[in-house]
Amino acid sequence: ASYPDASASPLSLMAGQGAALKAGAKGYLHNHLRVALKDLGILLLALGLAVAIRKFLLGALEARIVWVTFYPAVMVAALYGGLITGFLAAVVSSLIALYGWPLIGNHPFINDGADLLGMVAFLFNGAMIAVVAEVARRARIKAIHAKDQAESANKAKSVFLATMSHELRTPLNAILGFSRLLQNDENISPENKRSLGLINRSGEHLLALINNVLNLSKIEAGHISIDESVLDLSGLMRDLVELLRPRAEAKGLSLSLDLAEDVPRFIMADEAKLRQIVLNLLGNAVKFSAAGTILLAISQKPCDVSERIILQISVRDSGEGIGQEEVQKIFEPFYQAASTRVREGTGLGLAITRDFITLMGGSISVESTLGEGSVFLVDLPVGLPGGVGTDDISASASAAVSRDDNRIPHLAPGQDDWRILIVEDQSENSQLLSRILEQAGFQVRVAWNGAEGVEAFRSWRPHFIWMDWRMPVMDGKEATRLIRSLEGGRDVRIVTLSASVFKQDRDELIQAGADDFVTKPIRFREIFGCMEARLGVRFTYDKALPDNSGVIEQGGQPPLLDHKTLASLPDPLRANLAAAIGSLDSGRIGTALDAVSAVDPVLAADLRRNIGLFQYTAILDALQSMAKADAPEGN
Ligand code: ADP
Repeated sequence: ASYPDASASPLSLMAGQGAALKAGAKGYLHNHLRVALKDLGILLLALGLAVAIRKFLLGALEARIVWVTFYPAVMVAALYGGLITGFLAAVVSSLIALYGWPLIGNHPFINDGADLLGMVAFLFNGAMIAVVAEVARRARIKAIHAKDQAESANKAKSVFLATMSHELRTPLNAILGFSRLLQNDENISPENKRSLGLINRSGEHLLALINNVLNLSKIEAGHISIDESVLDLSGLMRDLVELLRPRAEAKGLSLSLDLAEDVPRFIMADEAKLRQIVLNLLGNAVKFSAAGTILLAISQKPCDVSERIILQISVRDSGEGIGQEEVQKIFEPFYQAASTRVREGTGLGLAITRDFITLMGGSISVESTLGEGSVFLVDLPVGLPGGVGTDDISASASAAVSRDDNRIPHLAPGQDDWRILIVEDQSENSQLLSRILEQAGFQVRVAWNGAEGVEAFRSWRPHFIWMDWRMPVMDGKEATRLIRSLEGGRDVRIVTLSASVFKQDRDELIQAGADDFVTKPIRFREIFGCMEARLGVRFTYDKALPDNSGVIEQGGQPPLLDHKTLASLPDPLRANLAAAIGSLDSGRIGTALDAVSAVDPVLAADLRRNIGLFQYTAILDALQSMAKADAPEGN
């Protein structure tokens, strides 16, 4: 009866005290008291259990090795409660032995000097256990603290990245948007249009680069993934060579591309990463060569995995080369070879390149001789699109490549007079957006910050608002919230223009009441696509193929042309189609396909897809052979 009631009292004590404390004192004292009560509870529980085991299970031991069950009890108490609790457990155990033992065993606990020595040794060992447990506990607390600190530092880094990406994307928006707009301008000469194309492609590359720098920090955090889609390999490689040609030619270097015949045109790979890998290597070759030839060679070899091949990319230059002792070091971040005379760049390019290649399951090596040149060799496993359904291919490929991005649609006739409000503090962005929307036939107004936006909503009642997120005076989130609370504020469509790449930011926008968001830099297709989806407006594409997707599909395998149905088309339609394809004028081809579609929409769709994949000669050959067969004999 004198044993502590280990199972009931501490818990009920804790529960009772806990409830009382919850209602009363708060803060520091409250927490400390709770912890102390919890430790006390554990201590009593452990000791009670120790006594019970000693008495009932190990009762046959009588007065021998009394401490056998108290050691584990002290250990448990010390592990949970630390030094004081552990030490207290050792002392309470000794008191139980001293005063409780006569009650259990009907004879005194200390009979001779050996019993006393045993108790002192137990107390000493118990104190040691308590010290060790305390050290372990402190180490654990320190680790938890360090983890918390690392997490908050990581969060700060994410915020920094979000801000930086916003700052970089905003000016890019103007570069990409205006160069695209100018490409539509009829007064611009073809040569200037080509230059604009280059500006545009460089801008797109810069955008990809920004994304990749963001990705690099994600690689460090282990958050990066490979985003495979169907891509036109030869098109991509040609684009990259063309992108660097002006720079190479300015230095008197010749730049050539050698694509082995057996390399498939369409592959499945992470386009942005592949692009950056090749661009980094080619860029270095141009940068570190003063004369001679640079050769980008692409070949393939079989891969163990089915539906995949190993793409072999080699970049050879006759430049300054790298010394043997430095060849491996150049892949380290920020390393620039001592022998290098040209001091441009950051020394990050090859580190990123190698990270991407490793991530994609490939490898990179380099052979170089000082003064003679270098060759970088990359082996990269990539997928073959054959394993995917044709529909998937065209869908993902058209999403990846949208050459028709620069076409501006027009509002289809017979619709409301749509009023669109742009709330944006950056004048380049608002000018760009208002121009493309006006050209498409909308009524447009611009407000320069959130507060003006709310005012414009009150006085003008737009149907749709393009809302920038970060603005002075009042930001987009606040403005959206305010507008939603106004009369009629629930009916207007609000879509946020945000440069942020972080999901939590997007969730915040939607919570604030935005219907959707479009990421900057804006792409015409996304802008009009979003308005179609959110507002239900309809567009016509004047120079385009007639279907609403507005995209000439790229990539994938062309569907087989059904020669029989092609032959069954009325002669004038076939002749018209042949002439249109012969002219290579997309407007004419579109009109001709429209006419075919009226007679046979399935055939028209097949033709369209073939044209999207540049199968002009195949279609022309088929049409011409039919024309010959139709021609009366002897003519
Ligand atoms: P960066 O080009 O910005 O300096 P990189 O990581 O791309 O950074 O390259 C690191 C270093 O490797 C370069 O500074 C240069 O010393 C060396 N290097 C890379 N490519 C070549 C090349 N084709 N020829 C000679 N040296 C090269």
